[in-house]
Amino acid sequence: MKKIRLTKTDFMNGMRCGKMVWLDNHHPEYKKLAPEVKELFARGNEFGDQAMGMFGEYEEMSAYFEDGHIDCGTMIKRTKQAIKKGTRVICEAAFTRDGLYCAMDTLRLDDGCDPADPTYTMYEVKDAPKVEPWFIMDAAFQYYVASKTIKISKVFIVTRGETDTYETTKVTRLVEATQKGMPVLIDHVKAAIASSEEPTIPCGKDCEEPYRCPYWGHCHNIDI
Ligand code: SF4
Repeated sequence: MKKIRLTKTDFMNGMRCGKMVWLDNHHPEYKKLAPEVKELFARGNEFGDQAMGMFGEYEEMSAYFEDGHIDCGTMIKRTKQAIKKGTRVICEAAFTRDGLYCAMDTLRLDDGCDPADPTYTMYEVKDAPKVEPWFIMDAAFQYYVASKTIKISKVFIVTRGETDTYETTKVTRLVEATQKGMPVLIDHVKAAIASSEEPTIPCGKDCEEPYRCPYWGHCHNIDI
């Protein structure tokens, strides 16, 4: 099988629906985001940007090519440099492991840890009122990828509090419990991408949850 690279988005879309990740990789031109989904993403990005400052000063690793695409290689290099110099709070910290890629919302150096063997706490930010099960899988993929490079002591999901504050929920145990099964889940998503034909998956609740799928029109044969 041709070597398949997976981002966190590929993994999460593939866990939701094999057809969705196949379309992302073979026919992205079929994608049409509903206006309410665009708004949802814009609000989420805004909340994510604000949350970068939740621990005060930070260094952001984001890098882009001239055409606007994310420059993963530069982000990984910058993250390595930030770790080497002991940066306390790193946002969009990028990691790779065996063709997998992720960029963490926030990575915070643990207070008082041994500089020769540092440990970090990771924070995954979600513009949602509570922790949903798929947030755990999202954090689990990132933990799996990054733990090849760094030691992660704790994992938190950050959600939007009632007065636009940040609520943090510790999910370390749940994330750790998923790690043994990650290679199987990753292979399952890779197999969906590698399919030579569009997978035949019937429409159902995954088409609407957690938000309307961008291929809804294609799969329901409706022009939106
Ligand atoms: S619309 Fe439904 S069946 Fe089609 S790709 Fe999306 S989730 Fe899968």
